[in-house]
Amino acid sequence: MSVAKDFFIMLSQNRMLNGAAKRWGLKLGAQSVVAGTTIDEMVDSIRKLNANGISATIDNLGEFVFEKEEALQAKEQILAVVEAIHQHKLDAHISLKPTQLGLDVDVDFCRENLREIVAAAHEYGIFVNFDMEDYSHLQPSFDLLEELHGDYDNVGTVIQAYFFRAEEDIEKFKDYRLRIVKGAYKEPEHLAYQTKEAIDANYIKLIEYHLLNGPFTSIATHDHHVINHVKKFVSEHGIPNDKFEFQMLYGFRTDMQLELTKEGYNFCTYVPFGIDWYGYFMRRLAERPQNLNLIVKQTFNK
Ligand code: FAD
Repeated sequence: MSVAKDFFIMLSQNRMLNGAAKRWGLKLGAQSVVAGTTIDEMVDSIRKLNANGISATIDNLGEFVFEKEEALQAKEQILAVVEAIHQHKLDAHISLKPTQLGLDVDVDFCRENLREIVAAAHEYGIFVNFDMEDYSHLQPSFDLLEELHGDYDNVGTVIQAYFFRAEEDIEKFKDYRLRIVKGAYKEPEHLAYQTKEAIDANYIKLIEYHLLNGPFTSIATHDHHVINHVKKFVSEHGIPNDKFEFQMLYGFRTDMQLELTKEGYNFCTYVPFGIDWYGYFMRRLAERPQNLNLIVKQTFNK
């Protein structure tokens, strides 16, 4: 783990800065990778993506929620996003974080918030993805997901390839629609692979497993090596395009997003929006300190 990565992860977890940034508006270059702070701005961004044949998964940004009041506000905002998808006929679904809906407050309370959102989305045929956070929230999130999956078929989650347990998890959730990622948080050596080589190798293994065994796989990466490998693998194994999609984050490798769409692959962009942008943005800098270029460009191109 590089010093820069550690540094940005530390900043992403700073609660004081997370709180303060909500009052700043989009700053530090975040406007390149966050699709506005309001539902209207987010809808405009998604219309543009949809016009190019790209679907979206919408993240109403929010983390570090330790009060019921805040979790209830987040629930109302996400319900408003569900309504906006339906009203504006967007080709989009929901991504949410269980902690935003009160996982750190009370599990039963969180379950009820999640249930309300999943039920509302189910009415309109909208899929809801549970994003995965750090290890301490992994099992509680999987438990909630399993409970809700018993009642609704429009839920799925994320498998993080850096975890040693990911292989077992993907087998357990093989009948679910899954997004597979490398993993964005700092996790200890006894739980997770630490080197790029080991993470990449496990990542490929998990993707191949779910492409062969699962109902639908979202391959969420900006790594062209992985994308090229997947293209070859699906072609060799006769896996049709409607069984998988590529996903990237809003504002990253935009040319490649369009190129993959033009090549006929399903493509879905992860679209974060809202005032709680700071932690998300710092994790992007941790993943790729070159993203600092974004800050420099934004600072000088005002
Ligand atoms: P990396 O390993 O970061 O990069 C590999 C190579 O790809 C680089 O060496 C470079 O050659 C190329 N590359 C990467 N980025 C760029 C770029 N911007 N421009 C040019 N070349 C580039 N993590 C979670 O823990 N939980 C989640 O729920 C979650 N959801 C996600 C959803 C989506 C849609 C995406 C895309 C990621 C998500 N992540 C999530 C983050 C993920 O775990 C990784 O931390 C993140 O995607 C960085 O890894 P990577 O696979 O993109 O490639």
